[in-house]
Amino acid sequence: MSAQGYQLLIGGERVDGEAGAYDIVNPATETVVGRAPEASVAQVEAAASAAADAFPAWSRTKPEERAELLNRAADLLRDRMDELIPLVQAETGATLRTTKTMQVPTCIERFRRYAKGALEPAHIPLPPSEMPATALAAGGLMGAVVVRQPVGVVACITPYNFPIVNMAGKIGPALAMGNTVVVKPAPQDPLAVTVFGEVLHEAGFPAGVVNVVTGSGPESGQALVASKHVDMVSFTGSTPVGQAIGAVAGHDMKRLLLELGGKGAGIVFDDADLKTAIATISSVWAFHSGQICTAPTRVIAQRGVYDQVVAGLAQAAGHLKVGDPLEPDTVVGPLISEVQRGRVEALVQAGLEQGGELVAGGSRPDLATGFYVQPTLLAGCKPDNAAVLQEFFGPVVVVVPFDDEDEAVAVANGTEFGLYDYVFTADTARAMRVARQLRTGNVGINTAQRNHEAPFGGFKMSGVGRDGGSFGLHAYSELQSVVWPG
Ligand code: NAP
Ligand code: MG
Repeated sequence: MSAQGYQLLIGGERVDGEAGAYDIVNPATETVVGRAPEASVAQVEAAASAAADAFPAWSRTKPEERAELLNRAADLLRDRMDELIPLVQAETGATLRTTKTMQVPTCIERFRRYAKGALEPAHIPLPPSEMPATALAAGGLMGAVVVRQPVGVVACITPYNFPIVNMAGKIGPALAMGNTVVVKPAPQDPLAVTVFGEVLHEAGFPAGVVNVVTGSGPESGQALVASKHVDMVSFTGSTPVGQAIGAVAGHDMKRLLLELGGKGAGIVFDDADLKTAIATISSVWAFHSGQICTAPTRVIAQRGVYDQVVAGLAQAAGHLKVGDPLEPDTVVGPLISEVQRGRVEALVQAGLEQGGELVAGGSRPDLATGFYVQPTLLAGCKPDNAAVLQEFFGPVVVVVPFDDEDEAVAVANGTEFGLYDYVFTADTARAMRVARQLRTGNVGINTAQRNHEAPFGGFKMSGVGRDGGSFGLHAYSELQSVVWPG
């Protein structure tokens, strides 16, 4: 934060919110971390207009120049790690370990990756093709090249769980490809994103290339999505908000990248290495209190190992330390807000009323402050239980038993989501056979490890388009075909 406090960035100027400022609350202590600017609708429009003005010159910069600026921004972020880590920790409530290892360094890695991305080929050569004569033109060999063009102004709208990582995953490839951006972080934890904007400004991105707007309610995001200056919306967040954005964007054909909700199935077969399966599934509790879209929150366990899986998970849940995220041995921190805790508790209640058995957790830990939910396990669930069909975005795992492979696939495919599923088995042929039948964008076989060069995104209601590696870069481009005789 500069002497002026946390500010918006519009057309290269750091400014206060015209609608004032609002408190950002630490989810563990319930104290105020800082005040975020409240942008007016006119300021959102000014930011989009500045991005549109900056686009023609920025889109013509040399890739080397864009790469250098992205690398410089990564250097400056690294220099400000000591300021960013406590800030991101306080506003997200993430444990210190998660903040130090994932929240801040991943953001820097993404900028480094897309600095290289700026230098990836923007031309796809095609072999000449023999075309017959038509009323339009003489026949003969036609040459062709496909040129990747930037889309224009990209609105980048992100959720609260990994504020600067999510934002870096959008800004990095969008800028590398020659687009300009207006970023709108989630209302709960936008402070580090405003510092991020400050860093990009200092790194020397020309005025208007990067703009940052924040606000406490949906008005700023809605105004951005509706703006005539915006050519593409890159959104990560919940499915209902994605649907609302899609409806508005369709009106003037804005390009969409939508990374939405998930309800990851973890299919555990009788031959699975149960230690691996249980440790991987326990990451739902142990990693950012389950506020992760990819988590294996919905365990589908074969009858032969069902009891062992439930017992193993119950034992794991009981061993995780819940509490102050600043203590080095804390594993489970708070949820982002009282509202989010209320949602999680209501869905646990619904799950129990619809026949789920409470095996672990289910209540709040005995702590004086903070929006905590204990690691919770609901077993013996029917596939149509609300707790099996809906997303918690909290530290809750549900377990459904199954008999055979076809049933496992049917249960796994039985939600509206299709983001990330997991298969635990010793039989690789079965793992591949099952993966092919899963209607999901990503399948992890015996692991929750990711490959960041692989395309990431959802089938069904989990989204449209793909992030990740060069796929993520290409998401921010339009294809232009150029043809010639010869
Ligand atoms: P959210 O409620 O959908 O909000 C996400 C962002 O959208 C916020 O910045 C929000 O700001 C904004 N927003 C809300 N309504 C809007 C509208 N009509 N037009 C434009 N912007 C609008 O999501 P969340 O609660 O922050 O995050 C949790 C969700 O994100 C979960 O569903 C999770 O699965 C999903 N997620 C998905 C991925 C993925 O990669 N697939 C990754 C992480 C999280 P306001 O609230 O101020 O409007
Ligand atoms: Mg919201």
